[in-house]
Amino acid sequence: MKHQLKIFNSLTGEKEVFVPLHENNVGMYVCGPTVYSNVHLGNVRTFMSFDFIYRTLKFLGYKVRYVRNITDAGHLTDDGDVNNDRFVKQSRLEKLEPMEIVQKYTVDFHKVLEIFNLLPPTIEPTATGHILEQIQLTEKLLKDGFAYESNGSVYFDVLEYNKRGLNYGELSRRNIEELFANTRDLDGQGEKRNPQDFALWKKASPAHIMRWASPWGDGFPGWHLECTVMSTKYLGNQFDIHGGGMDLKFPHHECEIAQGKAGHGESPVRYWMHANMLTMNGQRMSKSTGNYILPMQLITGNNTFFEKPFAPAVIRFCFMQAHYRSVLDISNEAMLAAEKGFNRLMEAMKILNELTTEVIHPTALPITEWKQKCYEALLDDFNSPILIAHLFEAVKWVFQLKNGEEKISVEELNELKMLMNAFVFDVLGLQAEQLAADNNDKLDGVLQLLIDMRMEARANKDWALSDKIRDALLPLGIQLKDGKDGTSYIIN
Ligand code: AMP
Ligand code: ZN
Repeated sequence: MKHQLKIFNSLTGEKEVFVPLHENNVGMYVCGPTVYSNVHLGNVRTFMSFDFIYRTLKFLGYKVRYVRNITDAGHLTDDGDVNNDRFVKQSRLEKLEPMEIVQKYTVDFHKVLEIFNLLPPTIEPTATGHILEQIQLTEKLLKDGFAYESNGSVYFDVLEYNKRGLNYGELSRRNIEELFANTRDLDGQGEKRNPQDFALWKKASPAHIMRWASPWGDGFPGWHLECTVMSTKYLGNQFDIHGGGMDLKFPHHECEIAQGKAGHGESPVRYWMHANMLTMNGQRMSKSTGNYILPMQLITGNNTFFEKPFAPAVIRFCFMQAHYRSVLDISNEAMLAAEKGFNRLMEAMKILNELTTEVIHPTALPITEWKQKCYEALLDDFNSPILIAHLFEAVKWVFQLKNGEEKISVEELNELKMLMNAFVFDVLGLQAEQLAADNNDKLDGVLQLLIDMRMEARANKDWALSDKIRDALLPLGIQLKDGKDGTSYIIN
């Protein structure tokens, strides 16, 4: 089947037919985390959106080189001094080396994404591993007149860039004059020719521990430059897809375009993709406002926002029910509804995978049209909620087939099984085992409770109740065994 994938390109504001630079291959870069603290659930949503996009591209037959970086230096809260370096700040707070902070939160990040069944990228570069390349690109920008040195730091000259007709503001659709007029004066601004100029290289103060030698003295790289260097090093000066959260459009991605055009002579990215934000109870999730939840707090139930714990696959299902470009709000109600939907889907998958049929002739179920609709949803800018709606049409068929209300041919049943498994597990990345594991824990809890009640009954010489508990479990395939260490159970 020849597919025509359409992607909403933030640069043009339109859905465009996706034509990769190299046939059947896709180069994709996604801005990774700044590893100075635990990722919150909002961060997870963005990475999961791109995981779904990566899985879909692979499902459609593309060979994908997927680069997602680790920002382990240089992401300042501001353009200012050492006090604004997130790693240095956090290392003081936790009394750890900055590189211990980096290690701690990189490990946490990987662990969290694994819990949610995100596939690892094919390359995961770190900013500190690419200092040399960042110095080299800064030197080139200086040589070509796109940057200037000021007091040991190097800044990108936005006005000069625009003088050459290169259009700073094209992604965020901001007018440079307005930008200049609206910018407040910030610390360190005195070094810049214009407030919109951004740091390519920052001078390190004597107190700054994360520092590298450069032609301009000891310093550290600018955040925007890190992504330019790491994306183009592995994907080429121009590549297919660049993703990140909506909030990175400006200034981060705008600056990446400027650095690419000035440094490499071409616009770096053909399709800019921006994932929308996760909100909780109507407010954007963010560490700074306190309106956030850590993934493990939702999974364990150790939080004040939700009435019960939710399995990672349920959370993933909840996220997949929203299109990546829509705002998604999580609330107790939304999670409970997602859990219901997820459980029904998993129940149907179990029935479907155990279903057999002897009917040879085709039936009324429109499998071919259904398959077409599922593909169309994926091809239309990765529309996961529409795909899920179609999957629930198939869920209805599965229950009808089970109840004998519908019939299906062997070939069609096999096709349905193959497609449903692919969409649910490979493309949406849901995991059935988690439900099973979750249910096993619950079953264990219930059985322990019954064992305790039986012990109590025996202590009270209530033999009738004690026997009733044991005997009632037997037909369910559960055998209680009394030993010298207490009672255990065997499930047949
Ligand atoms: P950071 O580590 O701060 O650079 O953020 C990592 C990623 O999470 C970025 O792509 C952000 O755009 C994204 N992000 C931050 N807050 C949210 C949110 N509330 N919902 C979705 N994505 C977010
Ligand atoms: Zn980036």
